[in-house]
Amino acid sequence: MYTKAIFIIIDVLAVIELYFVIRSLGKMTELFASWLKYALVSSVIAIVANILIAISFDAMFANVAYALYYGSIDWIIFYLGGFCLEYTEHSKLLSKCKVPVAIIMLADTLLLLSNPVFGNSYSIYTKENSAGFLFYQAESKALFNVHLFLCYVILFLALVFLIVKIVMTFSFYQTKYILILMDVVFVVVLNVFYMMLGLLLDASVIFYGVAGSFIYYCIKFLVPQRLMNVAVVSATDDMNEGLILFDIYDNCIYANSFAKERFLSEGKEFSFSNEPIATVMKDVGETETGFGHTEYRQTEYRDGIPVSRTYRVKYNELTDDKGHTIGSYFLFEDTTEENYYLEEIKAARVKADNANIAKSTFLASMSHEIRTPLNSVLGMNEMILRSTTDTQLLEYAENIKSSGDILLSLINDILDFSKIEAGKMELIYAAYSPHKILKDCHTAFSQMAEGKSLFFNIECDEKMPSLLQGDERRLRQIFSNIISNAIKYTKMGGVTVSLHSEDLDDDNVWMVARIQDTGIGIAEEDIQYLFDSFRRVNEEQNATIQGTGLGLSITKELIELMKGTIEVSSTVGRGSSFTIRIPQRIMSFSAIGKFKLHEEVSEHKYKETFKAPSANILVVDDVAVNLKVVEALLRRTEVKLDKATGGLEAIDKCNEKKYDLILLDHRMPDPDGVETFKRIKAEGLNLDTPVIVLTANALSGAEEEYRQIGFADYLSKPIKSNELELAILRNLPIEKVEII
Ligand code: ADP
Repeated sequence: MYTKAIFIIIDVLAVIELYFVIRSLGKMTELFASWLKYALVSSVIAIVANILIAISFDAMFANVAYALYYGSIDWIIFYLGGFCLEYTEHSKLLSKCKVPVAIIMLADTLLLLSNPVFGNSYSIYTKENSAGFLFYQAESKALFNVHLFLCYVILFLALVFLIVKIVMTFSFYQTKYILILMDVVFVVVLNVFYMMLGLLLDASVIFYGVAGSFIYYCIKFLVPQRLMNVAVVSATDDMNEGLILFDIYDNCIYANSFAKERFLSEGKEFSFSNEPIATVMKDVGETETGFGHTEYRQTEYRDGIPVSRTYRVKYNELTDDKGHTIGSYFLFEDTTEENYYLEEIKAARVKADNANIAKSTFLASMSHEIRTPLNSVLGMNEMILRSTTDTQLLEYAENIKSSGDILLSLINDILDFSKIEAGKMELIYAAYSPHKILKDCHTAFSQMAEGKSLFFNIECDEKMPSLLQGDERRLRQIFSNIISNAIKYTKMGGVTVSLHSEDLDDDNVWMVARIQDTGIGIAEEDIQYLFDSFRRVNEEQNATIQGTGLGLSITKELIELMKGTIEVSSTVGRGSSFTIRIPQRIMSFSAIGKFKLHEEVSEHKYKETFKAPSANILVVDDVAVNLKVVEALLRRTEVKLDKATGGLEAIDKCNEKKYDLILLDHRMPDPDGVETFKRIKAEGLNLDTPVIVLTANALSGAEEEYRQIGFADYLSKPIKSNELELAILRNLPIEKVEII
């Protein structure tokens, strides 16, 4: 009685366990899960049939229960086979064979189920145990062998299939086959073992339940884990970085292919006392934080040639979920190529910098080369303008002057452009009067407008501050560029310049200027290109108008440097309007008042600003004509002028005579101006005589450099007579000068 009770309890427990597994499988969406589910449902039927055998009260009841039991085993095998094929991704083979196999299984099941009626497969007999209890046993007949044959053939085929697959498949899927093989072997071995016990009741069917749960556990957790390990290992093997893992006792537990190839010599293992870890640990030190970075250098020999490789190394501790240290890892990133390209970039940068320096040097010398002869041309022309009364000659000379001025402004534009490009444009802030700028614009452009019969109006808001702080020279340049364009590109009507200020904060205002013309206008699609360097829009129509396409690009850069904006609106054929807004500091809050133009005499009339008959001045230049220009420009000031055509002659002269002022050219053949200056200042009579440098170098920072050397003043060529006189006035002893 006890035997039966224990047997039934074990079976019931197996059913309960299977119920939970079947429920979990029902939640899985994969197809193989439903095959396994049906296999386990069949197992439940088999176990229930087994319970019925145990509680059989007569032979017929036992006969039916045995039929149910044997029949359900057919379906356990059928569905398990389906699961294997589906799980190992053989759904094509499965869909081909599932219907014929199901028919065979159905035929076998029907044969078994007909046994209670025909007694064809087995017969029932009773056996008594030692305690006197009756057990119903089944004795197989010849036909039962069909059933056994079917089951064993399928099991055998499954075994062959699995073994072949395990041998042939690549590692990633081996895990799946091994799992199924283990399960089949498990069931077979336990069954054989159980049979050997020769018990009166068959409880072996519960192994199906155990096996089902085992498979479920494996497919849900073990296999994915194993597959992930395989995937991670192959991914780390594919990595272009070296990975070495150590456990807490500093034993190497893993190193990827990269690390092995690069660092492991034959017969060696990674350890903290071997390379590369030993050096890395020495560099990072045993940090308390458990991580660190360093660089590791390794010399390889390729065909006997040493090749140096560098690695960026990351060292970190491995910790579990709770933060306990469980080991450490080292990541080696090969930076050889990166370093190589960085070096290349550095070299390219040096090259580019050198090219830029070469460009600046070229511009400086080009400006010098053009300015020097231009200096002579304009200087001599000035002499003609001063000395002749012949109207024809005066006209020629005026033409030379205006062409010379254009050439000079072109050189200035190119220089400004290169300064901006090199990021060397410097703004010099000082107080200025907006009125003065407007007046000067009027002086400069009214004639040009008149010449084209255009009106030229200037309007200024009376309330704007009278003194602002800004770079006056560059502001003039901005105004000049836009106004000269407006006049250039207007045939009829005229140009209006209006200026007003808008509040910005307590100390600053927006200086807003609008330059409007009634000219040819700019097409809407061209406006976007207006500020591009060297780009002129509407080329065909403007072919006869002189220009380089640089003016507006420089203007915009200057405005942006001053943190201002420029906007354009234009209608073709009706005119354009340029609005600039520049923030400026207020230097005087008093209102600027009404803008008045006191007409300037537009005629060219020179008048010297001073006379200094007792002043001794030395002028040094290797170009004779330049000496003549200075001499001519200073004639009416009556200064006593000595001339020297080179540095050596100048030094000799300075050793003989004390001068009140020296005008010294920079670019001269040996010794140049700077060298001559140093020698004059080293000894002799002119240790404290102010020296003004004459130079064609108008590049940014030039004035600063000259002043640092010790020059008292700086004049850029071509020398203008008023600038020359002003510079002399600034530097001559006051008692020698008579202001006129
Ligand atoms: P440019 O030296 O050619 O005048 P800018 O940079 O000063 O060069 O001007 C670029 C182009 O913008 C000019 O070529 C001209 O086509 C156009 N432009 C500039 N100002 C005006 C204007 N007021 N009216 C019509 N077109 C203009």
